[in-house]
Amino acid sequence: MFKFMVYFSVISVHLIHCLPSKNNTEDYDKGGADLSYLGRTVFGEPNEESGKRVEQWNKSSKVNPEELGSYAEGDILFPNDVRRNGVISETARWPNGVVPYNFDGGYSKDQRETIKTLMMEFHKATCIRFRMFEPNDTSWISITNDKTGCWSAVGRTGGKQTLNLQAPDCLQTRPTMHELLHAIGFGHEHTRSDRDSHITIHWKNIKEGFKAAFMKTDKHLSTNFGFPYDYNSLVHYSNEALSKNGKNTITAKKDPNKALGNNFGFSKYDVEKINLMYNCTK
Ligand SMILES: [Zn+2]
Repeated sequence: MFKFMVYFSVISVHLIHCLPSKNNTEDYDKGGADLSYLGRTVFGEPNEESGKRVEQWNKSSKVNPEELGSYAEGDILFPNDVRRNGVISETARWPNGVVPYNFDGGYSKDQRETIKTLMMEFHKATCIRFRMFEPNDTSWISITNDKTGCWSAVGRTGGKQTLNLQAPDCLQTRPTMHELLHAIGFGHEHTRSDRDSHITIHWKNIKEGFKAAFMKTDKHLSTNFGFPYDYNSLVHYSNEALSKNGKNTITAKKDPNKALGNNFGFSKYDVEKINLMYNCTK
């Protein structure tokens, strides 16, 4: 059982009046972790400055579109519309792995199909099921196409929660699946409590104001399900994420030239973690 109490990038937010109750370990025991190290930075409003940076992104860029936002860790945002009387309750998993969603952004038919195709990757490999919003749903993802970058809350917040995928740059395998992973409860791999044994953070190369994006979670409040550190995860930052000078901000200890993260799809452990987190038998 204890092995289920380890970090995993699966996050439950315990932000009571924006400050977490570190005594409430119930959700950590269920495989959750804690975003308290990000403090108030997870709250805010989407901004077009992030959208402009994504708009300027191109395929020769060495970073990923979702790493360009000015949100917590680049792309984690709980917009103020999910606040409830100043309180965000614990984020949670989606019951039975069913994730209702609505397209609320102006997407072309092809763009919608692209997103649906990437959702199918979850269906193929796990028991997560994205389906269209129905009137009785009490929690759902509103997928928007604002010029504010690629971003999502982490886990189910309850009610409508926005996940922004700015077309066309966020509608690629990596950013779309990455944001969907946040929405079902994954945090970033590079903030794992044990990351210092596996990667080096090059603080001097990080853009001013973004160092918080590289802080790690508290080992007493986070879990990883006992999985090895996953350099290839879709939720691992790239080597030059949030770099101010084009030099690496993250390198693997065992091989500084190793490319981190991937643009192609789930890593083996991404799939295994989802299946464990959601008790999938598939
Ligand atoms: Zn992210």
